[in-house]
Amino acid sequence: MALQASSLLPPSPSARSFLGISLADHAVSDFSPRRRVRLGGGVRAQTATTSPSTTVSSPDAKKTLRKGTVIITGASSGLGLATAKALAETGKWHVIMACRDFLKAERAAKSVGMNKENYSVIHLDLASLDSVRQFTDNFRRSGRPLDALVCNAAVYLPTAKEPTFTADGFELSVGTNHLGHFLLARLLLDDLKKSDYPSRRLIIVGSITGGPGGPAGLAGGLNGLNTSSMINGGEFDGAKAYKDSKVCNMLTMQEFHRRFHEETGVTFASLYPGCIATTGLFRSHIPSSGSSSPFPEVVTDPSLGKSGVYWSWNKDSASFQNQLSEEASDPEKARKLWELSEKLVVWV
Ligand code: NDP
Repeated sequence: MALQASSLLPPSPSARSFLGISLADHAVSDFSPRRRVRLGGGVRAQTATTSPSTTVSSPDAKKTLRKGTVIITGASSGLGLATAKALAETGKWHVIMACRDFLKAERAAKSVGMNKENYSVIHLDLASLDSVRQFTDNFRRSGRPLDALVCNAAVYLPTAKEPTFTADGFELSVGTNHLGHFLLARLLLDDLKKSDYPSRRLIIVGSITGGPGGPAGLAGGLNGLNTSSMINGGEFDGAKAYKDSKVCNMLTMQEFHRRFHEETGVTFASLYPGCIATTGLFRSHIPSSGSSSPFPEVVTDPSLGKSGVYWSWNKDSASFQNQLSEEASDPEKARKLWELSEKLVVWV
């Protein structure tokens, strides 16, 4: 389907249309209570399958690795904080906490006992493309290599009656969860490429909404004429906007894999952490308090180094390669989304 120029430009505040791509409603709820992990005494990472490790399965495996650097977006609470803590306390990782609220992130790191030597906070507001670019510059100025990037941050606004928008005029969920991360990952791919770390990984946190039985399609026209805040041009629905953004995350990961895995050797993967209703994500849904995370495994475990896959955990906390829905794995949709996203973030 041909793209019209008007669909490719960042929308004006009055138009506020997004991709013009239609994502049909999602049959499976993101938050079905499949797996809930609650740990006492603060936040602790669940490493039931394997402990975090920097050992690699190459012939160089026995060499001692230098300390890795991992960027985690949204590390100020929930799963991002649990992951930051778990990786930092191995002593093998320096964690860059990429957070929109600097003080909150510092307090959060302190509250879970992270050692100052093992982390830094760098400001990142994913709801502003300028901020994403600024973050990248600031990270580069730190002089650290980049060995892993975890795109974890998200907003979820299921009870919102009206849409809210990013600094660039995109609906907040898709603008933050997808476009902000898209630009960040696209920019930082260069840094991952330069890293000499044996296993470099780019992880995008997905969701079950993109798994089997998930959304029925990116079928709509790319005509740029809709004035809705929703991807499919429909009436605003906060829960659906979040789910749409997560499908975009899954498609983006697939497209990264197709475009760059062979050339760069970087592992691209997404994961579904399970339903953990105690994180801040549910702040506008139900009260929250604590959480746990399987993400450290996906960053460090040699057995989870495969690219282009979607990891999930079963009820015994064993990881398995989950099947993506037709929608979330459709190469044509992924390609279109990629090209549109590049234009929307003014990459090309
Ligand atoms: P939380 O709400 O606890 O954490 C979300 C994080 O994202 C917070 O640190 C928040 O920052 C940050 N964030 C939000 N907006 C921005 C922004 N504009 N710029 C930078 N950071 C931002 O949620 P969870 O830990 O539960 O969620 C983590 C990931 O897991 C998300 O991608 C979510 O979609 C996914 N997930 C979670 C499930 C669950 O059951 N919890 C289920 C399926 C997927 P701040 O602290 O400043 O608010």
